[in-house]
Formats: sequence, structure tokens, C-alpha cells
Amino acid sequence: MANNNRTLSLSSGIIYTIVHSNRRTVAIEVKPSGEVIVRAPAHMPYATARAFAESKAEWIEKALEKVETQRREREATMPPPFTGADGDVLLFLGKTLTAKRIAGASSPHIEGGFLILPAEIELPGIINWLREQAADEINARLLKYGELLGVTWKSVRLSDARTRWGMCSGKNSINLSWRLIFCIPEAIDYVVAHELCHIKHKNHKAEFYDELERVFPERRRVEHWLKEHSMLINYL
Ligand SMILES: [Zn+2]
Repeated sequence: MANNNRTLSLSSGIIYTIVHSNRRTVAIEVKPSGEVIVRAPAHMPYATARAFAESKAEWIEKALEKVETQRREREATMPPPFTGADGDVLLFLGKTLTAKRIAGASSPHIEGGFLILPAEIELPGIINWLREQAADEINARLLKYGELLGVTWKSVRLSDARTRWGMCSGKNSINLSWRLIFCIPEAIDYVVAHELCHIKHKNHKAEFYDELERVFPERRRVEHWLKEHSMLINYL
């Protein structure tokens, strides 16, 4: 099918694209990327769609400002990169640990606010250790919420995905991101309970959330936290 999308600009200079499709009304969408799209019914003339966009110029500008603020907030909350160097700060269970290299330390471990690291360990080794910590935290919660929900799962895999914290397949195989170890403990509770809940309900309808809230009453607060900290899926 030919692409008839047309890219234009408002008199204020903002670039937007008119996309015709099989819809009944005209609407404007401002994407998180800052892209502005005017979605028009198939037979609406470009001039009409343009006039509509122009009449909504102020709204578009506000929406773009909001997108920009959100982008800045996201960037502001991404912790500084952790390389494993002495003095580097690592996020761990929602708190910060300062790396301390100690010659002769047998393996990574936590002492107060410090992550004690053997002098010779490199980042991949530290990540392996983090994966082990994540597995321990996750396993404890699988047992807890599995029992509360009365469900059993087929398999559990620690995932390296950078797109989602967890998923439950149609056959009840569960994947959970090892990067949950950066999150507050309640977020690990939430994600584990959420995926286990999918063993009973394969959707996000009211029954699903009723069941989830029964075993995890704080779900809204933690959903909000996860949304605000979604960039942690890309941390390390
Ligand atoms: Zn879900």
C-alpha cells in the first residue's frame, strides 16, 4: 500500500505528520518520542486536517512540553553508570552501595553501605554475583506468593530482557529479570506476585487485579514506583 503520510509544519514551526486511516474522527497524538501525528479519517482532505492541527497548536505545544519534562525526569533518575571501580555507587534493593575493592576478599559481599569486592573481580563476575542475589530474592517470593495464590508454575528462568520485568507464558513458564535486584524489595514482591497471578488469569481484567490485591494490597503504590523507575531495566 502506498504511504500517503504527509509531513507538514504548524505556523509555530512544530513538525507533524498527517496519517489517514479507516477511522471516524480526527485526533492528534503526541508520542513519548515527541513525534506529533494527526490521525485523520480516510477521506478527510489535507487542508481540513491542517486546519484542525493549527486550531490545536496550543494543545500540541503543551503536550510536547510535558513529554520533554517527562524525558528529563527519566534521565535525571537514571543512576550513574557502575563499572565496578573502587568508589563506584551501585543500586541494590533500592538502596545505594559504594564499591570497595579489598585485596584478599574471597567473594563479593555487603558490609553496611559497602559492596566489598575482591581486587581482581571484573564487571561480568560482579553481574554473576548480582544474578545470584536476584535468584535468591526471587525464589523466596515465588514460594511465598505461590502458596498464597495456590498456584504452581512449570519453570522459572532469570531473564536478561531489557524490555520487561517479568512474563508468564500461556504454559505457565515464568521469566523474571535479574535486574529486579536494583529495585525496592516491594517491587520484586509485586512483579513475582503479578506473574504468578497470570497462572490463574491470563489477562489484566478486574478478576486479575482483585486476586493480585488480595495477596499484594500495595499494588498501586508499587506500580507507580515501577513506572517511575522503568529505566532501571536498562541499568548495567
Ligand atoms: Zn501482566
